Amino acid sequence: ASSADPYDVIIVGGGPGGYVAAIKAGQLGLRTAIVEGRGALGGTCLNVGCIPSKAMLHNSNLYHAAKHDFKDRGIDVSDLKLNLPQMLKNKEKAVSGLTKGVEGLIKKNKVDYVKGWASFAGPTSLNISLTEGGETQIEGKNIIIATGSEVTPFPGMEFDEKSIVSSTGALDLEKVPEKMIVIGGGVIGLEMGSVWNRLGANVQVVEFLSSIGGAGIDGEVAKSFQKILQKQGVQFKLGTKVIDAEKKDGKVYLNVEDAKSGKKEQLDADVVLVAIGRRPTVKNLNLEAIGVELDNKGRVIVDDEFNTTCKGVKCIGDATFGPMLAHKAEEEGIAAVEIIKHGHGHVNYETIPSVIYTHPEVAWVGKSSEELKKDGVNIKVGTFPFMANSRAKTVLDTDGMVKVITEAETDKILGVHIIGPNAGELLAEAVLAMEYGASSEDVARTCHAHPTMSEAIKEAMLAAHFKAIHM
Ligand code: FAD
Ligand code: NAD
Repeated sequence: ASSADPYDVIIVGGGPGGYVAAIKAGQLGLRTAIVEGRGALGGTCLNVGCIPSKAMLHNSNLYHAAKHDFKDRGIDVSDLKLNLPQMLKNKEKAVSGLTKGVEGLIKKNKVDYVKGWASFAGPTSLNISLTEGGETQIEGKNIIIATGSEVTPFPGMEFDEKSIVSSTGALDLEKVPEKMIVIGGGVIGLEMGSVWNRLGANVQVVEFLSSIGGAGIDGEVAKSFQKILQKQGVQFKLGTKVIDAEKKDGKVYLNVEDAKSGKKEQLDADVVLVAIGRRPTVKNLNLEAIGVELDNKGRVIVDDEFNTTCKGVKCIGDATFGPMLAHKAEEEGIAAVEIIKHGHGHVNYETIPSVIYTHPEVAWVGKSSEELKKDGVNIKVGTFPFMANSRAKTVLDTDGMVKVITEAETDKILGVHIIGPNAGELLAEAVLAMEYGASSEDVARTCHAHPTMSEAIKEAMLAAHFKAIHM
């Protein structure tokens, strides 16, 4: 192909949806370009999301453990100090290493990396405002929108990323705030709230709903999660609506009211983190010009093969429907490219895992008890606490449990909910079991190594099917 020929596929956006789609397209022999304007590949996830937050979660947990937990374990440390600049530097190192790694993979798979911001000039052509200056136009037989999402602002509160921050500012605070208020008790609020709580801030989470954890979390797990976080020092103000904020004398004052009684109160903090959700990034794409329609939440409307309302243009990841998760975007990226190449591709939305990377972690796949009861499904529930798991006992990490929900008539696994050490890694077994349509008996009869935390999954499966052994 000459450089003037149209690409087989152009991907707009270099996040986990876009870059994975680009690699797959390269592997399948499609002539591919990826357009990204932020100066690095990896999108929200690698640059200001999953990766830097997990770096901070891990190291803040070690610091917290050294301060509060080591003594009981028989390890005396003296002179323990937080070196925040070094912790932030390590986070940056993880980010730059991984984003450069992605750039290497893109090159290896012969994908052209176009640095700049794209907008549609027509259904098969994009104008690119180049990072190095100037403009260019590229043509593609297929175009995939993978432009991701951005933080939803709180009306009337402007981010200065110092005292009123989004998750991006919360990943980069120069010093530990004395008092931090988090608006929103969802995933970001709890992860970033945990980080700063562990590093010494007084953290208060203000949430509109009466429970924490965001959409899809099991009610019983959410309650136990809240108790555990409270024990760690995080404070919660649930059922509370934030009205507005004002900055005065280096502090932020928040006016809030009780969602039921309407009782008003003023709270103050040094730093306020707004974490009330994210919204698709589509505003500069000139979608109106090519007839790509959005729903009432600003998400790009697609059919079950990721086709938008403009022929030849697909959309995947955070910019369209479904949970805003990196691994969901990746699966869609692969399926979209396979559809372009082979005419078919598939994502199983019933088995997309959710993980909250606090300590203990919270992880689940499938439906919650509440959702299943609402759907009128006859369920059986098996639970097993980490308190009764030998490995958890050995390592003094016994908070939490595994909860397995099955269909009563068939024993088919419908949901697995874990709160406990390494829940995110443990969950993979449950995801695989559900992907293969397993029953709780199937997993209960599978040999699990001893002593491992995974035995808690086996025991909860035993409990759902018949009876646990160690309870
Ligand atoms: P994005 O990653 O948002 O990437 C889109 C890219 O498109 C961006 O780089 C953007 O610059 C680019 N772009 C936009 N418009 C244009 C344009 N016109 N031209 C060119 N380029 C453009 N998910 C998890 O699964 N696990 C986690 O642990 C996790 N932690 C998170 C922590 C935080 C603090 C945040 C904010 C998010 C987290 N997420 C996590 C969510 C995850 O980051 C997103 O679901 C994921 O990044 C979505 O991938 P995407 O490819 O759809 O979009
Ligand atoms: P979220 O939807 O998880 O939680 C937002 C919370 O804010 C909800 O509980 C909601 O009830 C509450 N809320 C909304 N408006 C409010 C108001 N006015 N006052 C008080 N509370 C209010 O959103 P998020 O935490 O901002 O995260 C955004 C996205 O990023 C999520 O979709 C999530 O999937 C993704 N993410 C994932 C991970 C992970 O997988 N570990 C980590 C971080 C972010």
